[in-house]
Amino acid sequence: MFICMFSKTNGKPSSWFVPVENGYCMSWRVAVEAYNERAWRTVPVQCLRYVENYMLGGQYDQDINMVVEQIYNYLRDVAPAADGKDAWILDIDETCLSNLFYYQGKRFGVDPFDPVAFRNWVQSRSCPAIPAIYVLFWKLINSGFKVFLLSGRDEETMGQSTIDNLHNLGFFGYERLILRSPAYRGIGAVPFKSEARKKLVAEGYKIWGNVGDQWSDLLGDCTGDRTFKLPNPMYYVP
Ligand SMILES: [Mg+2]
Repeated sequence: MFICMFSKTNGKPSSWFVPVENGYCMSWRVAVEAYNERAWRTVPVQCLRYVENYMLGGQYDQDINMVVEQIYNYLRDVAPAADGKDAWILDIDETCLSNLFYYQGKRFGVDPFDPVAFRNWVQSRSCPAIPAIYVLFWKLINSGFKVFLLSGRDEETMGQSTIDNLHNLGFFGYERLILRSPAYRGIGAVPFKSEARKKLVAEGYKIWGNVGDQWSDLLGDCTGDRTFKLPNPMYYVP
């Protein structure tokens, strides 16, 4: 079903047609990004094409670039001290690494989360880097910040493949990779990541920036001086 944006011209309909679903799906995506829509399990099926176009058509990349531009603006006012305790926290999935190829096979999140298939994908070590974040990663390290990679990936089953995947892409020189140890299995991302950040602060680190695609990366304790939310309309991590 379509609506026409403009009235007829020269007796013929204007070519400016906007699918009605796009209006709904755009609102849905904004609600997701603004954290008004919470605890959603799958992308609404009528938004499959919309999310596909968003992810593959250039807008997703542009939105990421906009966030990274804002990080660079913020970085102009932050100079690391000589004590080596100035830290940034980067998430992994849909932050450093992209699972877009995997989610293409899962109808961009219309299909429910499949933990076994996702683990197999991670173990294939095939995630590409998100280019703008890769550049940011090296900018942070070269500027003297300590970069901590903090992810809810299961340490036991995905730890080595995550390290291999990161290193193969050129993500090295980070201070620490913190994954979900068996003690944190079944615990939400907010308490898990809060605990990890609290430990860093107890070690004397100052968290200047915290970057992730999920609100659960950015909420809780010791979230950092600034948080930066990257887009992700494909899945929600509680
Ligand atoms: Mg993530």
